[in-house]
Amino acid sequence: RAKSAGGNRFELADPEADARAITRHGLTTALPTALDRGEFFIEYQPLVHLGDGTVHGAEALVRWLHPQHGVLGPDRFIPLAERTGLIVPLGRWVLEEAVRQACSWQERHDRTGPLRINVNLSPCQLTHPGLVSDTVAILEQAGLEPDALCLEVTESALIGADDGLLKPLRRLAEMGVDIALDDFGTGYSNLANLRRLPVRVLKLDRSFTQSMQQYPADPVDLKIVEGIVSLAHSLDLAVTVEGVETGAQAEQLRILGCDTAQGWYYARPGPPERLHELALLDATG
Ligand code: C2E
Ligand code: MG
Ligand code: MG
Ligand code: MG
Repeated sequence: RAKSAGGNRFELADPEADARAITRHGLTTALPTALDRGEFFIEYQPLVHLGDGTVHGAEALVRWLHPQHGVLGPDRFIPLAERTGLIVPLGRWVLEEAVRQACSWQERHDRTGPLRINVNLSPCQLTHPGLVSDTVAILEQAGLEPDALCLEVTESALIGADDGLLKPLRRLAEMGVDIALDDFGTGYSNLANLRRLPVRVLKLDRSFTQSMQQYPADPVDLKIVEGIVSLAHSLDLAVTVEGVETGAQAEQLRILGCDTAQGWYYARPGPPERLHELALLDATG
């Protein structure tokens, strides 16, 4: 089309693809300075105990308030940030901001109980030499206990991980930081490998939760989740489920022995004040 026509002629062969390319290009040029311009913000989604529905903590989820495109979700810019290396300073900013936020919840914790904070780590951050020292500095500066922090790493980021990659995670785990395996069950889950990883929490992928939508749920899926939960518990790992959208799913997953849950059924990601209010509701009944 445009190319085969040769020369400098430019034709819109596929206007939609073209619009996407322009947007992508626009985002690529705007991304490096977005951090300095203060365009990122964090929403917090509660993690609740499946047993009694009380708030356990929250996951920090980054968003970009783009001056032209409005609020963009992480799927729109995290891959870009990973390719351009911006993910390292951006990830550090998210950690700093989320830890500071957790501290301010903690200060008011006589009324809510201590709230924990989960922060996502991308594979580039794992291999970055500053991971441990940055995390230590951020925790110290804010005055947050390491055991109030949980770092989420995807299963795929740890596939074939050698000791060099696992060492910083082990250091953090020794300090008391929890490591969670995010989106568990979507990669080539090597269950035997779990023993080798300094992981405390399995976050079961949303696809499992989705298969609990029908009642009764698919018996094979039930068996799989049951097996994962019992293996996790026998290895002293806690199980969190993502993407809980209905009470029926929550009930099914509770019966299967999952420990904590996250999803629209409880709350959508929102501003930090909202999380504090939800935790206060627990405390006051
Ligand atoms: P994730 O860590 O698996 O986060 C869960 C995603 O599921 C979030 O999407 C959340 O909004 C969404 N979600 C929560 N409850 C429900 C539900 O009931 N139903 C459905 N359909 N979805 C639900 P979000 O915020 O768009 O984030 C997408 C991914 O972006 C995250 O997946 C995480 O991998 C990545 N991400 C977000 N923030 C950061 C960050 O600060 N750093 C890095 N490296 N990655 C991040
Ligand atoms: Mg996550
Ligand atoms: Mg997840
Ligand atoms: Mg997920």
